[in-house]
Amino acid sequence: MSVVQRPAVDSAGEVPIAALADTVARAAASELYAARLCGVAIRTPDDFLAIPLTTRADLQQAGVHGTRAVPLTDVCHYGESSGTSGAVNSVWLTPADLLRSARAIRAAHPETFAAGRIILNRFPFMAAPAHLMELIAQDGGGVAIPAGNINWDVPFPRALELARRTGAHVLAALPIEPVILGELAKRRGLDPARDLAVDTLFLGGAALPPSLQRRLARTWDARVIELYGSTETMLLGTSCGRGTLHLETDLAYCELLPAGAGPEARLVVTTIGLEGSPLVRFDTGDLVRPCPPCACGDARPGVVVLGREAEAVELDGRRLFPHDLAEAGSAAAEALDSAVFFVVVLDDRLLVRVETGPAPTDDPQRAAADRLLGVRVEVEPLPPGMLLDVDGLSRSPRVYKPIVVADWRRGGRRVLTVDEGLVEWPRPTWAEGRRWVGRAIKTAVRRRRLGRRTVGSRPRPLI
Ligand SMILES: [Zn+2]
Repeated sequence: MSVVQRPAVDSAGEVPIAALADTVARAAASELYAARLCGVAIRTPDDFLAIPLTTRADLQQAGVHGTRAVPLTDVCHYGESSGTSGAVNSVWLTPADLLRSARAIRAAHPETFAAGRIILNRFPFMAAPAHLMELIAQDGGGVAIPAGNINWDVPFPRALELARRTGAHVLAALPIEPVILGELAKRRGLDPARDLAVDTLFLGGAALPPSLQRRLARTWDARVIELYGSTETMLLGTSCGRGTLHLETDLAYCELLPAGAGPEARLVVTTIGLEGSPLVRFDTGDLVRPCPPCACGDARPGVVVLGREAEAVELDGRRLFPHDLAEAGSAAAEALDSAVFFVVVLDDRLLVRVETGPAPTDDPQRAAADRLLGVRVEVEPLPPGMLLDVDGLSRSPRVYKPIVVADWRRGGRRVLTVDEGLVEWPRPTWAEGRRWVGRAIKTAVRRRRLGRRTVGSRPRPLI
């Protein structure tokens, strides 16, 4: 029995031999593939399928320059993804590599990324999508506002203010971003659907379950487009108007390898056209579920991305993927009219902590237990601020252009050190301090109680 399900993911339904041969030839110039692909010629699909899979461990072992197949003078961008062990995968990209992904996104979404459209680019600076958004704008696809999250110079309140003041049309970000900005907007008396011009949420980089997509679409009165890719492979797909995530078959040859008895498959990618760090039969570690043909008319195959196989959990005899866990959390939150949730996997159930309206935290009557995805789910409603402290996020430090000279005669801040010249930390009021301490104590108590009943927290025998 062949383990390879011939996926024929190009729209013509054939294995693109010439493109794969080209990738193999390019890849052979890297240290990673030099020995592995030495003398390999691709004339038939079987020639290609005889090449062993490339794992993340292979990439890590190759070292920082090991995946690079072109001289440094041809490269314009370096990226890396970090594994749980702390090892990193290094990726080198040429200008053409970035442009190819940027153009594919624009080609798939010409109305979202068009001249005159303002893109609030909240993707983290180190992630490739942040740079693709900038390139899309430079290529005629709109006006990008570099406003990356997880940094201090554009904290959440400033991002919200930027969106409001510029009339941004597109919020390009991680899925948590519209949740946080939506809560922040509400706290400030703004209705994202009415008071902001955002009509498209372009989201990727984490699980984006259907119930969260629906809720965000409603909260923002916007279309949600899902972005899928990785640091190693670059763009792999985006979702169409029907919500199907179509694979970018011009950029990647995707094999769907059987993974267990179910319809899930492991996604193996060979990059097409990538110059900097080409990959041949790269095992992404992601599991996907193939979709039926999409009614949108796009013949390219569609998949549901379930997340890393290594991050799946076993519960009640069922195997749950990151996508399922996020969907359980999001669906439970939706039932309580909320988008703010946190999922904890326990020995016997999923605990879904949901922020709702003002509700008593410790009232057991409020905590309904139910079943979702065939496993037991306990829903723990919490008052606002217990999971997502919007006020706390609003109190980000102020970040300044670095100075080494301060003229106190001009008034204003009396800076004395380089640190103070860079960053000014907000000072909490007594009321805020009390609230933070209260929240920390309640969370610590909950952690301790849950920990006592969970096997994972107990010391394990050595054998
Ligand atoms: Zn479609």
